[in-house]
Amino acid sequence: VFKPSSALSKVGPSAISRMMAATAEMKRQGRDVIGLHVGEPDFNTPENILDAANRAMRNGETHYSALDGSPAVKAAVLEKFRRENGLNFTADEVVVTTGAKMMIFSAFMASIGPGDEVILPAPYWVSYSDIVEMMGATPVILPTKAEDGFVLKAADLEAAITPNTRWILINSPSNPTGTIYSAEDYAPLLDVLAENPHVWLMVDDMYEHLIFDPGTFVTPAQLRPDLRDRILTVNGVSKAYAMTGWRIGYGAGPLPLMKAIRAVVSQSTSCTCTIAQAAAVEALTGPQEAVSAYLAEYRSRRSLIMEELHTIPGLVCAAPAGTFYAFVDWRALVGSITPGGEVLADDETFCHYMLQEHGVAVVPGAAFGAAGYFRISFASDEQSLRQGMARIRLGCAALT
Ligand code: PLP
Repeated sequence: VFKPSSALSKVGPSAISRMMAATAEMKRQGRDVIGLHVGEPDFNTPENILDAANRAMRNGETHYSALDGSPAVKAAVLEKFRRENGLNFTADEVVVTTGAKMMIFSAFMASIGPGDEVILPAPYWVSYSDIVEMMGATPVILPTKAEDGFVLKAADLEAAITPNTRWILINSPSNPTGTIYSAEDYAPLLDVLAENPHVWLMVDDMYEHLIFDPGTFVTPAQLRPDLRDRILTVNGVSKAYAMTGWRIGYGAGPLPLMKAIRAVVSQSTSCTCTIAQAAAVEALTGPQEAVSAYLAEYRSRRSLIMEELHTIPGLVCAAPAGTFYAFVDWRALVGSITPGGEVLADDETFCHYMLQEHGVAVVPGAAFGAAGYFRISFASDEQSLRQGMARIRLGCAALT
């Protein structure tokens, strides 16, 4: 009999993967489903990046690289931090991993275990809590409020810190809310960090380039250089450059942490794909026009879905400041009854109803630690978005 390890004892398939599986199964049966659940760009990787990968593999860049990234990709990451964030790191302070997820996983593997606590402002990307639990540590979920724009408040952070707190993890722009922390939002939180020298800050800047008001993005290492020896800045190429399948992410932080992360990488993936590293060099240092073109597209899709959402009775949603997600409040409809007589008591039932009865896939808010919401991804073409929103409207209108 197969016996899973204790690391997996609290980790089940996520609500997102259940949704993915249910949607795939319906498509397999030939049913018409609009998928607004997918967390990745629908665009293809830009041509110049494909060409760079092609050149690299033809040039024999098909061997292992240094475990923390080739000299070229590390130089590209250093240059990115300098150019876009005003941050100067040394090559030793940077590690390139198999996606940003592996950076987050490696950082936790390298630093936490049973008895440790990690503070996660909710709503949060579901992998954070699962990874923390895989390490045997405890996620401490701190709810934020829609009225506060889903920004964590310093008093709440302060109250949640214990002697066992090791990290707080902030994701801005946020998956799923699209919230962007301004310098003013970060300032009081960084003051709390300064007062608690045993606590470190991990920031997930994955959606840095997907922001609708230019200039609104800031990152803590830039704001408080005095705290840099306790800040890990995580980023990657997946979302901005439509490169989810290439698996390149990276992190920059203090040397002792990065050294420990190297040990994890060394004994797990050895290094990430060298061809993908060459592609990432082109993404980070080549022409950036594709990023602006994608952003323009996301902006018009955002308008489209916000117009719809504002006129569907029972749904409430503020326009996301970044990312390609809208986090929709359906609390006014909780407890309503479907034409089939089912009571929509929770997010999963609601999403299941939308999928099975109306052929539109969205993700339950509870999966992000925020019940009473669902997440729509607008990384889909305009026609699918229009159809999907029409189905959501019908689904809501049919409830009593
Ligand atoms: N961070 C956030 C907030 C994400 O939403 C995702 C992907 O969904 C990632 C990190 C992972 O990105 P990568 O593809 O680089 O592993």
